[in-house]
Amino acid sequence: QPELAGDFGTLMVWADGVRRLKVRANAETPLDAKVAREFGAEGIGLCRTEHMFFDAARITAVRQMILAEDEAGRRVALEKLLPEQRADFIQLFEVMAGLPVTIRLLDPPLHEFLPHEEAEFAEVASAAGVDIDVLKRRAAELHEFNPMLGHRGCRLGVTYPEIYEMQARAIFEAAIAVAEKSGSAPIPEVMIPLVATRRELELMKAVVDKAAQAVFADKGATIEYLVGTMIELPRAALMAGEIAEVGAFFSFGTNDLTQTTLGVSRDDAARFLTTYVERGIYARDPFVSLDIEGVGQLIEMAAERGRATRPDIKLGICGEHGGDPASIAFCEKIGLDYVSASPYRVPIARLAAAQAALAAKG
Ligand code: PEP
Ligand code: MG
Repeated sequence: QPELAGDFGTLMVWADGVRRLKVRANAETPLDAKVAREFGAEGIGLCRTEHMFFDAARITAVRQMILAEDEAGRRVALEKLLPEQRADFIQLFEVMAGLPVTIRLLDPPLHEFLPHEEAEFAEVASAAGVDIDVLKRRAAELHEFNPMLGHRGCRLGVTYPEIYEMQARAIFEAAIAVAEKSGSAPIPEVMIPLVATRRELELMKAVVDKAAQAVFADKGATIEYLVGTMIELPRAALMAGEIAEVGAFFSFGTNDLTQTTLGVSRDDAARFLTTYVERGIYARDPFVSLDIEGVGQLIEMAAERGRATRPDIKLGICGEHGGDPASIAFCEKIGLDYVSASPYRVPIARLAAAQAALAAKG
């Protein structure tokens, strides 16, 4: 346990005795999950499943799935992906040993999955047994001018529910396998990305619940789980009262929420935000330290509206801001339950959470 040694370890023990906020980590590989636990993470707050799909051994099947012309074609590719996805979750549940694990269903901007090189198209063509020109036509159909505001997040799940069905199956099969092997059942928190409306969450929750029931019947075992949502669009924050009727938890995706509230691209922003900070327009880079006046207002309002509907709703934050001390102080102030940070920022988050708790006591 690298950070538990010496004075720093003593400080961490002290901080843990003081803080109220739980600290989780953003992790999708077993290695990251292990590092996170060594640094004191109390669960995974965000497992980005699209990162698993980029794995070199899988990407051809993923592209086959995305480029398939119909549901039957997508299901053929998804069957290839299911065993590996199940193995991903088994490993994560094992490392996290009963701590909460929030698994976010697929949320890629679609263009990241599309093949570009001739050789990539050729590989998919041979895997799918489809003519290369058919694949190229399909890729052209799927092209988007602004993929970050396009067919991503739960919009993919709405148009291709079989993708979320496969992932949910993998999650529940993995959880049951780990429960049987270790005797302690993981409690997966299944998270739906980029939700803007109650209906989207309702439709996606139905897909997850149906997959859960199918797996439970098949395995003759059940496990507890939660279905909740990211709040990362202003509309979701505004409609949080309604959305909380369906979702058992909210996780604030402050990267996208900052992007969509400020209307500033998270990928290109750095170029002019430096000038903006120099001119005093924003106190700090709002993608690094939460824009408390603006984005913070939306978060506070969504938390209040969510709680008004569902008093025990679980509230966390999983954008980059989850590891930033000033943002963590704000999370403490509005009473979130946890922050989730990248594994190496977990110790900083534990300390910042303790400082925030002390400040709150006055
Ligand atoms: C976010 O938008 O804040 C988030 C955590 O999701 P991602 O960074 O994967 O879009
Ligand atoms: Mg996001």
